[in-house]
Amino acid sequence: MNFNFSTKLDITDKAFTIANLAERNSAPCILCSESGRILGNDMITERCPRCRGTGNIFNINNTFWAVDKENLIIDTIRATLMVNRNDEVFNSPSEEYYFAGYHYARTETEVFKSLEEAQAECDKRNSKGA
Ligand SMILES: [Zn+2]
Repeated sequence: MNFNFSTKLDITDKAFTIANLAERNSAPCILCSESGRILGNDMITERCPRCRGTGNIFNINNTFWAVDKENLIIDTIRATLMVNRNDEVFNSPSEEYYFAGYHYARTETEVFKSLEEAQAECDKRNSKGA
């Protein structure tokens, strides 16, 4: 089997990644008056079940796309090809990018060649409310 395909970026290319981040806020826990503890009728103090002992309730307000890492160096690409009986690659390969110094991977939809391209994709996704 012999076929050619191109990946979005190359080994040693600089990369910028985007991620869906969460905006959090917190409010004081009214069940335990922010103490994180509840005194039972048996006079035994337990960890507050509502705030799990933190004294605060954390909420995720909103999620948004943002550039999360800049100037990564691609050191490994895993590409998965779909090939038919004529040795033709019949859709674009799905790609996972690995970066020097990091153990995680990102797909081709979250990796960009420049900060401008990465930010443009974030703006596009955020305007759709994705
Ligand atoms: Zn509490």
